[in-house]
Amino acid sequence: MQHKIKRIGVLTSGGDSPGMNAAIRAVVRTALYHQIEVFGIRRGYQGMIDNDIFQMDSRSVANIIQRGGTILKTARCKEFMEPAGRKKAYYHLKEHGIEGLVIIGGDGSFRGACALQAEHGIPCIGLAGTIDKDISGTDFTIGFDTAVNTAVEAIDKIRDTMDAHDRIFIIEVMGRDAGYIALHSGIATGAENILIPERKTDINNIIQSLQEKERRKKMVNLIVVAEGDDFGGATEVQKKLEENLPKAEIRVCILGHIQRGGAPSCMDRVIASRMGYHAVESLMEGRYNVFVGIQNNKMNYIPLEAAVKNKGKISDEWLQIVRILAS
Ligand code: ADP
Repeated sequence: MQHKIKRIGVLTSGGDSPGMNAAIRAVVRTALYHQIEVFGIRRGYQGMIDNDIFQMDSRSVANIIQRGGTILKTARCKEFMEPAGRKKAYYHLKEHGIEGLVIIGGDGSFRGACALQAEHGIPCIGLAGTIDKDISGTDFTIGFDTAVNTAVEAIDKIRDTMDAHDRIFIIEVMGRDAGYIALHSGIATGAENILIPERKTDINNIIQSLQEKERRKKMVNLIVVAEGDDFGGATEVQKKLEENLPKAEIRVCILGHIQRGGAPSCMDRVIASRMGYHAVESLMEGRYNVFVGIQNNKMNYIPLEAAVKNKGKISDEWLQIVRILAS
């Protein structure tokens, strides 16, 4: 008979994303429902190394589902990249009798979980908490929907002033390796150009179309750029356009960290709740070293290693939609 897990730990690690609190709440309450004790680990892997670990109860997660950020705090931790750091972390987990971990974070955090599991055999289960949606095997990640809606709201406002003045606006959104925020927010705001890391930017093509607009005296143009675009982000694009369109008024707006904050959207609260619930159920069933994804509205359990290796790919269909609708 399978050993019944009695104590688990939960942590948020790496980049924060709205909805992480809803996920923590779901993990804690599902575990307690099954008489599993839950320990919160503060500041991700750093808290594991520093022994910043405390017992949670149902009240510890009261009134947090609607809050952005993470009550457990998050961090990036260099020491955990080394076997000695992970050994220290494992020792503290053992001290607390923690037999399984739920790690809410991005692919870096999953890489850390793989290493901890491989070296010390602690069962880990991941919840994809990242605004970038740069993990394959799941249609959603916790925080993406909120971030993209924040971007859309901001871009809509910028478009109003852009139209009033006949300006070219270049808006940089988050996404170092993935263009999903740019793609979704760009389509939703009717951007003329969307520049993403997954596709080589043809700057000459953009210049030509703007020169054509200049001839027609219609110099309004919205360009959404992911920060990791191969051309080098919004400021580089601005420089290049100014060289070629000396008369145009070109403005840049970098949305930055507002995309990470704020109350999570309904969608993020719901997916975080579903994923958190299934993470605990999965640990109980002995299914671990996977992360919980949702695909075609069904739970999908993907090996943590696969999440690390395969980044999401943007299909040609999306790029075709951008090309046709913006023309
Ligand atoms: P995210 O989880 O948002 O992708 P990071 O890439 O910064 O964020 O990863 C979060 C943390 O996970 C790192 O600070 C580090 O402690 C741990 N981590 C990342 N990669 C590894 C690795 N290869 N081995 C061990 N730990 C790792």
